[in-house]
Amino acid sequence: MTVRNFGQYIATSPVAPLPNGKGRPIAGKHRARKGDAERLVTVAADALVQPTNEPVRTIAPLRFETIAAQAGGTVDGATGAVVPPIHVATTFVRDADNQYRRGYCYGRSDNATVRQTEHVLNLLEEGEATLLFASGMAAATAAFLSLERPAHVVAPSAMYWGLRQWLVEDAPSHGVEATFVDAGDLDALRAAIRPGRTRLLWVETPSNPLWSIIDIAEAARISHAAGALLAVDSTVATPVLTRPLTLGADLVLHSATKYLNGHSDVVAGAIVFARTGALLDRAARTRSMLGAILGPFEAALLLRGLRTLHVRVRHQSASAMTIARHFAHHTAVARVLYPGLAAHTGHAVAARQMRGGFGGMLSIRVRDGEAAAIASAGRMHVVKRATSLGGVESLVEHRSSIEGRGSPCPPDLLRFSIGLENVDDLIDDIERSLVPA
Ligand code: PLP
Repeated sequence: MTVRNFGQYIATSPVAPLPNGKGRPIAGKHRARKGDAERLVTVAADALVQPTNEPVRTIAPLRFETIAAQAGGTVDGATGAVVPPIHVATTFVRDADNQYRRGYCYGRSDNATVRQTEHVLNLLEEGEATLLFASGMAAATAAFLSLERPAHVVAPSAMYWGLRQWLVEDAPSHGVEATFVDAGDLDALRAAIRPGRTRLLWVETPSNPLWSIIDIAEAARISHAAGALLAVDSTVATPVLTRPLTLGADLVLHSATKYLNGHSDVVAGAIVFARTGALLDRAARTRSMLGAILGPFEAALLLRGLRTLHVRVRHQSASAMTIARHFAHHTAVARVLYPGLAAHTGHAVAARQMRGGFGGMLSIRVRDGEAAAIASAGRMHVVKRATSLGGVESLVEHRSSIEGRGSPCPPDLLRFSIGLENVDDLIDDIERSLVPA
């Protein structure tokens, strides 16, 4: 195999080796050409794994939906199965001369199901390498712990609350110091950088729970001018709507627990890298040393979820837009926060950097305040009261209750994750709960 094996990970993702040990690597340049209107994701001609050692057929470049639906187009070498087997082995035999030429040594670093899922996400995000982790938090913290330290980082004041808490309370003891800014304000972002000391700008777009939009291309220019990297938490946008690496970002973070898996039955995380190199090596080492790799069963479920990602996200975005428009001028509503609405402060940038929709997340600020917001959520039946987002079922959450003291989230805000239900059922349920009979 010509796959580059670094012991901890494989940069050019492979598929499971064939039983004869001659699995074909999936290689090639996956980045779409600049200005390519259709945003083709070109895949090398040998991307389709042949079940035997037949010569590889030349195929046309595959588009996003095809790669997703066919999970990269792989066919199991042993059986021809269109769904890959789940590899559960934790250990692998050495060659007679004591080497591990097949690239698999021990399950804390090496798992074929994990690599196959990494490969598909890597193609969808147009990255050079992808690592899967046991959760979004494991992935995000590994990204910070893989920086050269001491490290100064800049992060948004409004971002996923759990990660903000880790940056405030835990990161300093690991040599990571964070400055929080209103990341939508590019001057503030620029001013927060400490030349020579800031190693990373972390942004989230659209960001929890106000769905603020950050201009990724501008943020990349600012961070690169200061010699820092740009990481984008793209959990909410997903590669269906935004591909941050094509806009200049160096890393993409996903809580794969959300849209990538999409069925509220897996906790998982991912980092996608724009390039291989020292940072990827350190992240792979961190994952191995902390034992933070995703399990094979979760990886298989995630791979299944990825197959329908584009269909789910486009439908959820369309429903969220319908709901946002319906409640934008509702008497019980002070404001609807959704980047698809022209009144949203981030709309112009979102319209430029998100393609085919503005995502399935929106927030409603209830006119009568916090108590009315909590009471409204309590009256919802179709929309379930639960944390998390990105699943097929719609969820509502009073965010400031869960975030607690110090949260920048307005107390009158209800956060909605829009699922795949009939949108009229969702509107009726929200309407009835806002204006009780
Ligand atoms: N990033 C965002 C935007 C999130 O919403 C979350 C979780 O809610 C995370 C990261 C953390 O992911 P996980 O819960 O999979 O650890």
